[in-house]
Amino acid sequence: MDSPLSPSVWDNSRMRDDIATSTGKSPDLAGPDITDLGDDVFQIDTRMAGYQGITAGYLIRGSRPCLVETGTAPSAPLVRDALAALGVGAGDLATVVVTHIHLDHAGGVGDVAAMYPAAEVVVHQKGARHLADPSRLMASARMVYGDALDVLFGTLAPVPADRIRSLDDVGTVDLGDGRRLDSHYSPGHARHHVGLLDSRSGDLYVGDAAGVYIPDTGDLRPATPPPDFDLSVALESLRKFSALRPARLLFSHYGPVSAVAPILERSAEEITVWVSRTREARAAGMDLDHAVAMVRSRTLSRYAALQDDADPAIAAKFERISGAAANVAGIWHWLDKVEPGPPAG
Ligand SMILES: [Zn+2]
Repeated sequence: MDSPLSPSVWDNSRMRDDIATSTGKSPDLAGPDITDLGDDVFQIDTRMAGYQGITAGYLIRGSRPCLVETGTAPSAPLVRDALAALGVGAGDLATVVVTHIHLDHAGGVGDVAAMYPAAEVVVHQKGARHLADPSRLMASARMVYGDALDVLFGTLAPVPADRIRSLDDVGTVDLGDGRRLDSHYSPGHARHHVGLLDSRSGDLYVGDAAGVYIPDTGDLRPATPPPDFDLSVALESLRKFSALRPARLLFSHYGPVSAVAPILERSAEEITVWVSRTREARAAGMDLDHAVAMVRSRTLSRYAALQDDADPAIAAKFERISGAAANVAGIWHWLDKVEPGPPAG
């Protein structure tokens, strides 16, 4: 019940086929990929499974340097190279904070904590014990992903419990020089999810709570995986984000967006549309596989990345992060809870 990655709603063999074990095949690119976003904020491509431009970490530089999101465990050496290039040495990093504990965001926390012995690890309280003892999280992930787990995410190493600081509904990270990162609990995608607002830049780190942004095409796709997705909770988190009036959104997948209001509105619309389509498929008596196919096809026209004239590589890499199968399964799992009983038909 309290497993962070319950596999119960997955058809494991289908998910493994869907995910496969291929990678982005670009592990040997020279040097770290760093983008200066201004205000001493630097985006780092953490290159999950070798893919470029799907998983971002961010360094906020200052007297108390802070890393937001580590990426996966195999990404940790890349992160170290990037921080070194930005002048942050082994003793310098003050804080590592993750928006939530899914492995594409926090899989490298244990390795990064070992590389930066002075860094405090900050996470929502509902995720904290899984970073101290990742065994249940990793066992759940293994059941979902099978052998692909090693290729996609590697292994989350434990973080010493005395280096973890748990966040409540709100919390603060001291960035030094009067600058803060304020955390705001934002469940819906995951029940251990926080958004993080930079007091100086106005940047809001949205994790996966607002979905997945595809910079190549400007698309926004929902991120509604099992087992935590909840429609009203997710929409409430988006309203909370709007009320914070951020100057910019920093997506973990992928990058900055300045058109804050339209993108948050689009995010709510995306989630609502996917729930509606999934609910229709369920009410029609479809099984999950057929529901995935139907929702995929009936949402296709919404995304430039999925049109015939688009580069199929872009669609493929974002399917890794926000796959239709995972999204529909997450909504299905939630519908099973809130609208129980055999589907009609
Ligand atoms: Zn993610």
